[in-house]
Amino acid sequence: MIDACSREAKQMLSLKEALEKIKAAIQPVSGTEKVMLKNALGRVLSEPVYSPINIPHDRNSAMDGYAFASSDMAQKQEFTLSLVGTSWAGRPFQGQLKPGQCIRIFTGGVVPAETDSVIMQEHVQVQEKNIHFPADTKAHQNIREVGEDIKQGGLLCTHPKILTAVDLGLLASAGICDVTVRQPVKIAFFSTGDELTALGQPLESGKIYDSNRYTLNGLLADACYSVADLGVIPDDKQKLEDSLVETSKNYDVIITTGGASVGEADYVKEILESCGEVNFWKIAIKPGKPLAFGKIGQCYFFGLPGNPVAVVATFQQIVSPALKQLSGAPYSKPLQLMATCISALKKAPGRQEFQRGILTQDDNGEFFVASADKQGSHILSSMSQANCYIVLASECNGMQAGDRVTVQPFSLLI
Ligand code: AMP
Ligand code: MG
Repeated sequence: MIDACSREAKQMLSLKEALEKIKAAIQPVSGTEKVMLKNALGRVLSEPVYSPINIPHDRNSAMDGYAFASSDMAQKQEFTLSLVGTSWAGRPFQGQLKPGQCIRIFTGGVVPAETDSVIMQEHVQVQEKNIHFPADTKAHQNIREVGEDIKQGGLLCTHPKILTAVDLGLLASAGICDVTVRQPVKIAFFSTGDELTALGQPLESGKIYDSNRYTLNGLLADACYSVADLGVIPDDKQKLEDSLVETSKNYDVIITTGGASVGEADYVKEILESCGEVNFWKIAIKPGKPLAFGKIGQCYFFGLPGNPVAVVATFQQIVSPALKQLSGAPYSKPLQLMATCISALKKAPGRQEFQRGILTQDDNGEFFVASADKQGSHILSSMSQANCYIVLASECNGMQAGDRVTVQPFSLLI
């Protein structure tokens, strides 16, 4: 059994090899477009953005307090200055300060040219128009300098970069109204299989509901993708071929689920060989061994297995990095960390496994992971309960409770 697995594994690509092949095969979509800043979240910036202004634009106060000139400070002694006005955020003090004078200032208020220091309001004593400063008053405090964050002409965002909420704020702070981003990757997906039934229809014997299209629709929710759900194609070779060829003319990527193994009704590989090119076929991962990657004309093709858990695993491990590369996003890899496994895990050597786990962190910051129970590639419920993959190397032949394992969280929240 183990030997058979190992022999088969030798004919399969490792995940690493598959990802390298994809990396070499994929060219990012070339087009760019201008979008309004508020619509740019999650898009890939396609050119660097420089600041047309200094940020901060004016020298301003970091505190609610009093602005004064350090030349008015008494050497390590208390001193008193007379209050002559106020600088609010957005409403600067209009007068000119003379020696011996100070103004009230609020956070963000412009610091007058004649002053160079701000003291917090809690540190002074106010007696009508006289402000008493303590002996330990410090000069040059609580002032935000012009261009301290970004200088005029300085780089705000490099490219390529996936724009985050913080980036939108940063660009807005420089008055940038719109940005040039990569055009979205046009992705079409459909399910294959005579057994598939649409939601809302009664379920006949031998049929199942088509869950994969719902999973894929969710997995493809990304501002960098423009996604079309093309429904279900029956197990009919001609219909499938016609659909693939037709769809390939209008999209950058086609993703199918089902029909990728070697069963009699599994035509995807055959069709791809006749109307396009197959880049690789079997990958030594579990779940998800039968997976096709290729090209039909200019359109990339991913033929995922039909089993619902395998769809998610192959999408996340293989398709997602490929789509990111197509979108022009910079290369990034999933976060992995070490955890103590609190369940025994069964595994035969031969394929790298992505078992579903439940990751927790105790009060000391230590990570623990438990198996999310049933690991069959048709068991979507345990994947739904899981929050991570437990990543087991191909040569691993199981884990004992207490062993250290590599874990890949599904998200940054556990
Ligand atoms: P296949 O890759 O077509 O041999 O399918 C493998 C398994 O996945 C079979 O049990 C299929 O019934 C199931 N399957 C295929 N497509 C879907 C789908 N869209 N939704 C849920 N299960 C599916
Ligand atoms: Mg099928």
